[in-house]
Amino acid sequence: MGGCLTKSKDPKPRHYAHGYRSSPNTVAKAPAPAQQQAHHRPEKPGPTPAAAPVSGLKQAVPRPDTNTILGKPYEDVKLHYSFGKELGRGQFGVTYLCTENSTGRQFACKSISKRKLVTKNDKDDIKREIQIMQHLSGQPNIVEFKGAYEDKQSVHVVMELCAGGELFDRIIAKGHYSERAAASICRSIVNVVHICHFMGVMHRDLKPENFLLSSKDENALLKATDFGLSVFIEEGKVYRDIVGSAYYVAPEVLRRRYGKEIDIWSAGVILYILLSGVPPFWAETEKGIFDAILQGDIDFESAPWPTISSSAKDLVRRMLTQDPKKRITSAQVLEHPWIKEGGEASDKPIDSAVLSRMKQFRAMNKLKKLALKVIAENLSTEEIQGLKQMFTNIDTDNSGTITYEELKAGLARLGSKLTEAEVQQLMEAADVDGNGTIDYIEFITATMHRHKLERDDHLYKAFQHFDKDNSGFITIDELEIAMKDYGMGDDDTIKEIISEVDTDNDGRINYDEFCAMMRSGTQPQAKLF
Ligand code: ADP
Repeated sequence: MGGCLTKSKDPKPRHYAHGYRSSPNTVAKAPAPAQQQAHHRPEKPGPTPAAAPVSGLKQAVPRPDTNTILGKPYEDVKLHYSFGKELGRGQFGVTYLCTENSTGRQFACKSISKRKLVTKNDKDDIKREIQIMQHLSGQPNIVEFKGAYEDKQSVHVVMELCAGGELFDRIIAKGHYSERAAASICRSIVNVVHICHFMGVMHRDLKPENFLLSSKDENALLKATDFGLSVFIEEGKVYRDIVGSAYYVAPEVLRRRYGKEIDIWSAGVILYILLSGVPPFWAETEKGIFDAILQGDIDFESAPWPTISSSAKDLVRRMLTQDPKKRITSAQVLEHPWIKEGGEASDKPIDSAVLSRMKQFRAMNKLKKLALKVIAENLSTEEIQGLKQMFTNIDTDNSGTITYEELKAGLARLGSKLTEAEVQQLMEAADVDGNGTIDYIEFITATMHRHKLERDDHLYKAFQHFDKDNSGFITIDELEIAMKDYGMGDDDTIKEIISEVDTDNDGRINYDEFCAMMRSGTQPQAKLF
């Protein structure tokens, strides 16, 4: 997984169609000084502000420290899935077609042999890759995470099947695209950048090979599948590792001082290729490519550029701006007139996963919010790593709570364009105990992914939390105690909740009713993009 290092000395194609792929395309860690080269993916997530205790934070119950990679007991993936043909191979693993035994639905499973994960770094990298996929999952342009399993030999990551193959192969097959088709692909790619950045992740390895098509359809969705070099962004941190793939690497990466703007550069390189069929910075050697990138001259004279619209060129120029501070942001790209041109869904404001989850949360009843809070308190640190980082990024004064002003500024910084009233509504929805600020657990509660909420063990724990006398039912009294404990709900609200959830009308909530309530309204959301 991730940008593996495949250097080869072969023909120096200017055109994809002539074997661009076999040229020196990937420099997982390029010409770093000697002491750096030993590291595989040296950027570790910790020690991060996220790892430090947030004041007012009720720490999740720690899991026993095991020697496993995923930090959970071994589980046989074959009990749940039947494995089929091989779909592809990467540096660490093999991806298979698989079928979920209980539903007959098809997925892809990436099986990573633990023998290949030699150093602690390798293990941390895989763990982080899974965490990030899980964190970003739930958006149309990101491959959907289904589950992760570990046994003695391997780690298995089950995800949505992308049956349409690589974008790379489609580009090769086509040579280059019409402006309209290029704009549509570019929009999907920049959506991915936008989601990553909004969710506090820097991708660091955007290239066509890391996008798969959801199906063989003409209008299949583009899915980002590989987060092997991605990291959770720590606000204010300067990144220095040289990572990425030669053609796509931003100049500031080569200068060893960069932040998330590098992803826009890489997307700009992809756009240049989509429009012209050749990479903008090209040379016979890796060093030559890097020199061209640092030089930064973009050829808009050769064919087909004279025939390409000035609006398209304007966008390419803005994305391939040397100075990262002056470079266009993902939110601005999505509003650029060229990207919008002809695009049906393009002028809608872009929503982020966190934002849509918060909006969804707003619509939930109080018992569900309360139950989620109970679940959130019990999630392992791995499961909430990304959201924890986001909370820290938004909580700028480090007080352990998010105020209205911080939420507004945080969402705006991340590119959202909510009105004051909308931010206020989200604030009120997430503030389960109604004290005027969002604490850490409330933030996690309002923004965690439905996969986590739907897990049976979590639901069961939450049910038990309410069912104090272990009778198998949540009674009005029990609910009253729990809601008062959390400082919410008057008698009328409690009665209202019971009548809403109690489908068999016996005045109490049994486990089935509880699960049905928890799972209602959490179906995959409408496509946002
Ligand atoms: P890499 O080391 O190149 O990142 P991966 O292990 O991520 O490799 O993927 C290897 C190949 O497996 C991909 O090029 C692709 O062909 C196939 N593949 C990966 N994920 C999926 C998926 N979700 N659906 C279908 N094919 C996939």
